[in-house]
Amino acid sequence: MTNPAGTDPFGDGTRCVQGGHPDPVAGNPLLPGPVFAAPYHLGGSDRATDTDFYGRAGNPTWRALESAIGELDGGHCVLLPSGMAAISTLLRAVLRPGDALVLPSDGYYATRQFVRDELAELALDVREVPTPGPWPDGAFDGVRLVLLETPSNPGMDVCDIAALAERAHAAGARVAVDNTTATPIGQRPLQLGADAVLASDTKALTGHSDVLLGHVSVHDDAFAERLLRARTLSGAIPGPFESWLAHRSMGTLDLRLARQAENAAALVDALRGHPAVSGLRWPGLPEDPSHERARRQMRRWGGVFRFELADAGSVEEFVRRSRLVVGATSFGGMHSTVDRRAQWGDPVPEGFVRFSAGCEDSADLVADVLNALD
Ligand SMILES: *Cc1c(COP(=O)(O)O)cnc(C)c1O
Repeated sequence: MTNPAGTDPFGDGTRCVQGGHPDPVAGNPLLPGPVFAAPYHLGGSDRATDTDFYGRAGNPTWRALESAIGELDGGHCVLLPSGMAAISTLLRAVLRPGDALVLPSDGYYATRQFVRDELAELALDVREVPTPGPWPDGAFDGVRLVLLETPSNPGMDVCDIAALAERAHAAGARVAVDNTTATPIGQRPLQLGADAVLASDTKALTGHSDVLLGHVSVHDDAFAERLLRARTLSGAIPGPFESWLAHRSMGTLDLRLARQAENAAALVDALRGHPAVSGLRWPGLPEDPSHERARRQMRRWGGVFRFELADAGSVEEFVRRSRLVVGATSFGGMHSTVDRRAQWGDPVPEGFVRFSAGCEDSADLVADVLNALD
């Protein structure tokens, strides 16, 4: 969407509010409701190739949301029913038996599990590298696909997308970035040289803890066609109602993320130097080891940070004493949540906490968190 008054694109807030909305028509809603259809009318003849004919192959509610997300990502967006559906669809579309695949060793655990268990028959050469590196010479030699995740979940480490994409491309590899923690307004991997960006839109993009959804966006038309075909033939399609809820929720992404980042900054400030807290990491914190790298490629900060308490019991006690923070294993929602990641098998200490700052008032949150820790 280009601003008709000039050549500059609209800002993030405008694009979140307006993206994928139809031109105004008197008497029509601003954002049309979900279209529920298994078959569509064929109009009494063989189908015209430019209309919807069957709900597994196409749905106008998906396309409206794909247009909104694709515009923010800067590519063609293919909507999928969850973040894992986005990851599995992309990996299955790109990888062939015996291929080499680079994965983050410290990224989302189900991605590694999927590759290990569900892609076992491809006998892939899986090379796991921690997000902050080191990325040795030859790391991409003979590799088909490099999957990066930055900031990584749950460690909140950052890698340099542009530099790694350049090296990977020089070695003939394709690059995909899991952009879940950053969101499309926090980071634009396609602009930084990635071939594909994917995300779990279950998290901050929808942000109300009530929808599972995911997407992949790519530059290349043929790649987008390949992913669409994979979605249609695999049958793993998003629900129209979830897609509409996501589109409705996306309108406030800019506002929610701004408040979440503001709350994360206030909480991180209150927690640094706290005697019960160690290992505090947030890319927005100036002394964070990832800060400089993150500042160069991220467009804004998000609300997710991490820290450690003494042990599992201390985390349980912290959640019990808090009036505002709830234990839940997701992030990016409008409620502040805490997840003790070791319970899910992440390779982190027992007292490791991933904290997702919500949209509550900063002063209330800081007071509540300090009170629960004391
Ligand atoms: C949650 C998450 C996923 C998986 O998304 P679902 O919507 O739960 O399938 C993938 N990658 C990252 C980084 C995530 O945080």
